[in-house]
Amino acid sequence: SDSEDPVYKVILLGEHGVGKSCLARIFGGIEDSHDIEEAGNTYDRSVVVDGEEACLLVFDIWEQDETHWLQNQCMKMGDAYIIVYSVTDKSSFEKASELRIQLRRARQSEDIPIILVGNKSDLVRSREVSVEEGRACAVVFDCKFIETSAALHHNVKDLFEGIVRQIRLRKDSK
Ligand code: GDP
Ligand code: MG
Repeated sequence: SDSEDPVYKVILLGEHGVGKSCLARIFGGIEDSHDIEEAGNTYDRSVVVDGEEACLLVFDIWEQDETHWLQNQCMKMGDAYIIVYSVTDKSSFEKASELRIQLRRARQSEDIPIILVGNKSDLVRSREVSVEEGRACAVVFDCKFIETSAALHHNVKDLFEGIVRQIRLRKDSK
């Protein structure tokens, strides 16, 4: 094992309004401030997963300024990615596919952990993307899949634990 604790950089990607900031704030433990409109932020926390501590630095900066430069940086700097769409918004689901393709292009030969996240699963009546569609997309794009509800805190812990496990799996196989 490493002599120092590594810090894993996790980048949130996804269209505006899908819930990236809500998910990031829950991770950061400041979920009460959901009225705050922020352009971007990072959250630094260590989590214990399977009895072992891991330090995650979660970047919610995708929309901070929509320059090519920043978005290119985002595509380059992550150790892992969370691509979020809203299950109530088909176009955000299509955007998630575009982002996956963009990411693949930016990180050609690398096997980076990616989790596709269908957020807002609590909004049952306005659902536009089924669980099956989400899961099938993740299979095509060779990544993990989870549905979350930031509003109900459903599966949010599992999401970030899943990221840690995916990072560890790849490290251990090297
Ligand atoms: P971002 O633009 O991707 O950062 O999205 P935000 O985190 O700012 O969320 C956009 C809006 O969706 C806000 O009004 C949130 O309160 C709402 N929202 C986020 N996640 C959920 C969720 O899981 N369920 C519901 N019902 N609303 C959510
Ligand atoms: Mg945001």
